[in-house]
Amino acid sequence: MFFIYFRKIVIQIKNINIFRKNFIPFAIVACRLHLCRIMRTEALAEETQSNCIYCGAPIYGRTDKKFCSLACKNLYHYKQVEKSVNIRNRIITSLNVNYRILEKIIDASVASVELRVLEDMGFKPSYITGIRRTRGRYDEYACFDIRYCQTANRLFNIRKCPDF
Ligand SMILES: [Zn+2]
Repeated sequence: MFFIYFRKIVIQIKNINIFRKNFIPFAIVACRLHLCRIMRTEALAEETQSNCIYCGAPIYGRTDKKFCSLACKNLYHYKQVEKSVNIRNRIITSLNVNYRILEKIIDASVASVELRVLEDMGFKPSYITGIRRTRGRYDEYACFDIRYCQTANRLFNIRKCPDF
């Protein structure tokens, strides 16, 4: 009886030793890994200094990063190019409208016309393709190959000059 009891105790002690040998180092490694993960997360949170300039999401990693992902970077640059193309297209359209209006005036053999009348037709005086400053006279403006002089409320001397 005593022998059996003693044997049980020995087995328990052996188990404790096995537990100590295997589990404790495992537990230590697991704790270290967990601690590392927590520290890494905290470090990432500290590194977050800016937000993605396209979607506004927080950026992790390098401090000079501007975008949270490659998709955001591509979309941002695509939008920038699209915006620039839209601006240029709008200006070209306005210049084309101005040109067509001025051509109509030339075809009607009218050399001088009120600016208000032209603006009613859709003419935008701020869109020009060239300007020639003259001393003492009115400045000469160009819309492609059409030239004209302008006062505060009139356009005059409207003509085609292919060599402008
Ligand atoms: Zn983004």
